[in-house]
Amino acid sequence: MCLFCEIIKGNIPSEKVYEDDMIVAFKDINPVAPVHFLVVPKEHIDSVNGVTPENSGYVAHIFEKIPEIAKSQGIESYRVINNCGPSAGQTVMHLHFHVIGGTELGAKIL
Ligand code: 5GP
Ligand code: ZN
Repeated sequence: MCLFCEIIKGNIPSEKVYEDDMIVAFKDINPVAPVHFLVVPKEHIDSVNGVTPENSGYVAHIFEKIPEIAKSQGIESYRVINNCGPSAGQTVMHLHFHVIGGTELGAKIL
């Protein structure tokens, strides 16, 4: 089972900030900003490349919930980042969206 599936199941501890029947959000173990959490679907999807018409509801739900979770963490301005595949720096092959904020964010790539 992948690392984030283990976290979702509670087999590996994490600091969860939100959970419902479809998604979990937990603090990144190596935060790059004062607020840095990851939002993941409870169903294992490798990456954005694994999103299909059958499972895209998870992605929609993640984006419906990000504003609420961000607000609960004290931020209303933030960056949402996804790395898809090794060349883009994806290190955990379970779809996840980084949400970072809580400071003036640094240089934009785009
Ligand atoms: P990626 O590099 O795949 O876009 O993001 C993976 C993220 O997972 C990294 O920011 C990394 O710090 C985080 N991470 C890796 N292992 C763990 C862990 O065991 N627990 C938590 N909470 N985050 C982790
Ligand atoms: Zn997984």
